[in-house]
Amino acid sequence: MPETIERTGYLLRLTPYSDSSSMALALGEEGYFSFAVRGLSSPKSPFRSFMFPLTKVRFLLAKGKGDKLSLKEGSPFSKTPFGKSLEEMAFLSLLSEGLSKSSEGAEAKDLYALTAELMERFENKEEPLGLSALFLARLSALLGVAPETDGCLVCGTKKGLTVFSFEKGGFLCREHGSDLPHSSLSIMQDVYRLFHLPRDGVLKLPQDEALYFIESFGIYLEERAGLSLKSVSFGKNL
Ligand SMILES: [Zn+2]
Repeated sequence: MPETIERTGYLLRLTPYSDSSSMALALGEEGYFSFAVRGLSSPKSPFRSFMFPLTKVRFLLAKGKGDKLSLKEGSPFSKTPFGKSLEEMAFLSLLSEGLSKSSEGAEAKDLYALTAELMERFENKEEPLGLSALFLARLSALLGVAPETDGCLVCGTKKGLTVFSFEKGGFLCREHGSDLPHSSLSIMQDVYRLFHLPRDGVLKLPQDEALYFIESFGIYLEERAGLSLKSVSFGKNL
């Protein structure tokens, strides 16, 4: 009998590597882990019902040669989170892509906690575009490149803030942002909410503002953290 281990985590990605098998990447509390999933393309595969991105699963994994893991059994914790609308599908694909690509830049336990929080919000029917913007904001903080949102980038004052600039990386006061166009009050309030939302607070962003943040954070994360996310461009399809 091969040795087995149990790991709980969110499935992030499936990469086919032969006609019938795939490699899975998952994120658990203790870190990322990969394992082979054999026979997934067969209609009889017992794994087909739950092997979808962002499903939280208790995986039973068999250890093979060179400690390579392969899926033996799995029990999902809840229903598979299918995206019904384009916005929901976009949120799930942004989350799985962003988490898959952040394995080296942030602590796995923090990314896991963020995933758990966002999936709970998603299941509670919070607006998926707002959640996508929230994900990118939180991810920028975990990657250590969050914009300055507590006061002016230059002098730290909290009074008379007139500009939020992704390019500069935060808020600026009237004096230090004088050469930049003023930001609208709602954009500045949104930024503040994205970074200071309590766990039990509900985030509501108008769709056009959510799309603005998703695209802007996409460019910002690419420039500041080298994280290039294809899924951020989904706004163009909405
Ligand atoms: Zn200032």
